[in-house]
Amino acid sequence: MSEVRFGPGGVPDWLEPMIRFCSRCGGQLAFGPVADEERDRLACPNCGFVSYVNPRLVVTTLPITDLGEVMLIRRGIQPGQGLWAQPGGFLEIDETVRDAAIRETLEETGLRVEPGAIVGLYSRVQAAVVVVAFEARIVGGATEATREALETRPFAPDAIPWSEIAFETSVSALRDWVARVRPDLPLPDLSTFRRPFGG
Ligand SMILES: [Zn+2]
Repeated sequence: MSEVRFGPGGVPDWLEPMIRFCSRCGGQLAFGPVADEERDRLACPNCGFVSYVNPRLVVTTLPITDLGEVMLIRRGIQPGQGLWAQPGGFLEIDETVRDAAIRETLEETGLRVEPGAIVGLYSRVQAAVVVVAFEARIVGGATEATREALETRPFAPDAIPWSEIAFETSVSALRDWVARVRPDLPLPDLSTFRRPFGG
C-alpha cells in the first residue's frame, strides 16, 4: 500500500471502493450533511440509511516463553510479508476479545496461550484499525509454519529485530512491553518507524 489518502467521507482511499452502495437498498451512497449527525456522513438518498465507517479491532498477543522471550512470526502474507509481527487478527462478530486472542495465536503459531495483561491499545488511522496487544502465557501447543506465518521464533527483550518489524503498531506494542520488562534497555525512536502499509 502506498501513501494513504483520505477522500470524501473521511474514509481512507483504499477503503472507499468497498462502501459505495447502500447495504440496505443498493442505492448509491452520497457524502454530506445528515440530520442529527455531528459530522458529514455517507448516506443513502433513496432510503436514508447512514453508512457509518468505523475502525475495526485487531486482537494480538505477545506470547511469552518461560525464559521471558516474546514469540514473533515472520509474516507469510501481505501486508508486511517477510517481516516480523506478533500473532493477531480481526475480532469476529461472535467472539470476545479474549477468545480472539487465543484463536488467532493458535491459528498463526500453533501455540496455546492464556492472555493476561493488556500491553497497550494502538490506533492506526491510515489502516482503519485499532490494535490491542495482550501479554500472553504459553500453556501448550508447538510452533508450526502456516500460510500466514513462515516461521515463529522467540526473541529476548534485548534482541527484538526492530528494523524488520512489519507494523508501526507492532513496534509500539513491543516497545511498551520491553519498557516494562527491561526498563534498563534503550528503546528505538518511534518516529524512525514509518511503515507505508497495514497496521
Ligand atoms: Zn438505501
